[in-house]
Amino acid sequence: MSDASPKPVRVRFAPSPTGHLHVGGARTAIFNWLFARRHKGTFVLRIEDTDMERSTRESEHSLVEDLRWLGVDWDEGPDCGGDFAPYRQSQRIEWYGQQAEELLANDLAYPCFCSDELLEAKRREAIKEAKPPQYDGTCRGLSVKEIEDKRSRSVPEVIRFNVPDGVVRFRDLVRGDIEFATNTVGDFVLIRSNGRPTYNFAAALDDHAMSITHVLRGEEHLPNTLRQILIYAAFQARLPEFAHLPLILAEDRSKLSKRHGASSIGDLRSLGFLPPAVVNYLVLLGWSHPDGKEILQTAELIRSFSVERVNKSAAVFDKQKLRWMNGHYIREASVEKLFETADRFFPSEIRSSYPQDVRKKILELLHDGLENLGDLAEAAAPFRSPPDFDGGATEAVKSANSIAVLSALRELLVNSRDDLTSADFKSMMKEVGKKTSLKGKDLFFPVRAALTGSVHGPDLAGVAVIKGREEVIGLIERAQAMGDSR
Ligand code: GLU
Repeated sequence: MSDASPKPVRVRFAPSPTGHLHVGGARTAIFNWLFARRHKGTFVLRIEDTDMERSTRESEHSLVEDLRWLGVDWDEGPDCGGDFAPYRQSQRIEWYGQQAEELLANDLAYPCFCSDELLEAKRREAIKEAKPPQYDGTCRGLSVKEIEDKRSRSVPEVIRFNVPDGVVRFRDLVRGDIEFATNTVGDFVLIRSNGRPTYNFAAALDDHAMSITHVLRGEEHLPNTLRQILIYAAFQARLPEFAHLPLILAEDRSKLSKRHGASSIGDLRSLGFLPPAVVNYLVLLGWSHPDGKEILQTAELIRSFSVERVNKSAAVFDKQKLRWMNGHYIREASVEKLFETADRFFPSEIRSSYPQDVRKKILELLHDGLENLGDLAEAAAPFRSPPDFDGGATEAVKSANSIAVLSALRELLVNSRDDLTSADFKSMMKEVGKKTSLKGKDLFFPVRAALTGSVHGPDLAGVAVIKGREEVIGLIERAQAMGDSR
């Protein structure tokens, strides 16, 4: 069934457009993409939309947008075409039907007229008797006459695969040798009564027709792989290589799902994660760099990715680690570039009080402390005018030291030039320290509290420069008034 000549690598990501792109799907897409890029192969995007009830163009569009946002690009797909078009399974329906006819003609498949009710009853019966709930083969031996008779009465019909007896063996690139007896698989459906192919039939046919050389997908597809291998064999087609990627678990070690919160790429995007951080993090779910490196830019990932280093054991989606990694990418990004994405994360109040160039300066001051851009909502709080006071700040402006510190600073500011610089502010603080004989928290907390509403936060001189001399004087006076109400 296979010959040894190496073919150029062709891999695919084949999502069903029935919802948003989740981290598991995104990881599959990224692994395939990196593998294709690493081997200078071809990456195909195929839309598996044969389930008419659940598939939507809207969801296809959102999947495509999310992949693009991640920076994943493909060489063939529904939008850009390619030698094996069409790349939407809904546009290949007739061809799947023809392929099923070929199997029927060779007795590798047969029509089945069992009703859903009958199948369900038999299934329940089998479960009761502790037998595997497989199709029992009722229609396998129907004569031509019986088939014609049912067809003439328009009994709904599906096409089932005639599973041969035997053992199938293959080598999974991640999980090693896999062997299964075909009697663990009942005669499964290839074409439904509405004429649509099942996932297993369409996927196997397309992978073959599109010359896919490697199928990298989640471990949950292993039972499908067994069926797809049987379909390949029926067409005497050469098998692709298979690699089943380990499951992704949530921190509670259950399968990661929506109930664990942010698990779609759209969620991560709206929380303010950056695409290279998400890609970097997802690649480490089940793969590791040979030198144990964790921060890996895309170019380096392409250079170092290999299926051999994909783990068998489940990976845990660790939100803290993702945040930490994202913080790294935020710190590394140029403020100019970061601002394009970050600006919309400023609270609307900040956006309306400061012009763009000032918002950029605010970002510059804050970005070292952010783990995602969504943190800006809180981190930018000191720039509200006037800021809200937290408990520590209220205490600081009401402290005994506050009167002396604030009045000394106010006086210096009132007599200073209008365009306050960071150096000016720092030297004023030094002078206030000398005058009041205070230092450290005693000196800085009242000022920080007055300016930002908190005793912790970004560089104080930076804050003062952004707010400007006039506003700083106003905020000091406000704090003095609060202090007076002790
Ligand atoms: N349409 C399938 C899914 O979204 C594809 C699985 C595969 O890669 O074969 O799960």
